[in-house]
Amino acid sequence: MNPDTPECAGGIRMTRDRVSADNKRIILNNRTVDVNQLVPIKYKWAWHFYLDGCANHWMPTEVSMQRDIEQWKNPGAFTPDERHVIKRNFGFFSTAETLVGNNIVLSIYKMVDNPECRQYLLRQAFEEAIHVHAFQYIVESLSLDEAEIFNMYRENQAIYEKDEFSMSCTDGIIDQNVDLTTKEGLQKFIDNLVAFYVVTEGIFFYSGFVTMLSFGRQNRMPGACEQIQYILRDESIHMNFGIQLINSIIEENPYCWTTQFTDYLITRIKRAVELEVNYARECLPRGVLGLNVALMREYVQYIADRRLEKLHLPRQYNSSNPFPWMSEVIDLKKEKNFFETRVTEYQTGGALEW
Ligand code: MN
Ligand code: FE
Repeated sequence: MNPDTPECAGGIRMTRDRVSADNKRIILNNRTVDVNQLVPIKYKWAWHFYLDGCANHWMPTEVSMQRDIEQWKNPGAFTPDERHVIKRNFGFFSTAETLVGNNIVLSIYKMVDNPECRQYLLRQAFEEAIHVHAFQYIVESLSLDEAEIFNMYRENQAIYEKDEFSMSCTDGIIDQNVDLTTKEGLQKFIDNLVAFYVVTEGIFFYSGFVTMLSFGRQNRMPGACEQIQYILRDESIHMNFGIQLINSIIEENPYCWTTQFTDYLITRIKRAVELEVNYARECLPRGVLGLNVALMREYVQYIADRRLEKLHLPRQYNSSNPFPWMSEVIDLKKEKNFFETRVTEYQTGGALEW
């Protein structure tokens, strides 16, 4: 193992050479920069993502599940297809949030040794714990079968394949001594960041978000949907931080960004889109609430193109956004609950207009 890898970079030495922001790097500070000194801050964006995360702080138990419980207990309140898709989404999210938290702590944190980025990673790790808590709270409140929900990622093929896609990238960092001083090591790490920030948080969460928030727009499952709306807002900050992190690492280490590697990443993102469409097919075999597989495919392709653009990679689909209301939910402030402020607009009928 290379003695200069960041894992070893935690020691301090007595010196009068003070840390200057110019010397800081995202990775591979190699004892030339103290990893314990937040200030002077070089990456102001990382600090601002941290402040934004804190400003959005919320706890699941602040949200009442009373109306959800009443609705869920009412046999006529949901069709079997509606119950199916709701349970699938809880099954997916209840373990996916844990995978993301584990990857931050077990692989990203030891590779990224810049203190302001680590400050954000600590905040994000806590937010992932809050998200895990949210699904535990929802499952418990609704008295769902815990074993059914929490085992779903091993029992359901479509969920398993999404999680396998992400988890194989955590294993790639934990199992091997990834050497960030080599092109291959750096590419392996960027592959992990893309799998989590761009694919898991930026693509795999989204057909679940659209479906659950569609119930919320009809004032159904309002407590679960309010929490999912806060999760979506957190996730969009996670993804934006991750993309900025990836782009900054590439800027500081341009030699890793080869055509062969970008072609590989595009293939991976296209595979992720397929897996997300398969998942939508599994969740919506006949469609509910005006949602169906074709619309989901269009939406997932649309967001994948947006993610590719942010990585300065070419669009692959040119699909349009069938759910423009989603951007409104993402931009919302906590004080202004999307559903409570707009509920009258959506109470008129069952069908949604896009
Ligand atoms: Mn999360
Ligand atoms: Fe996240």
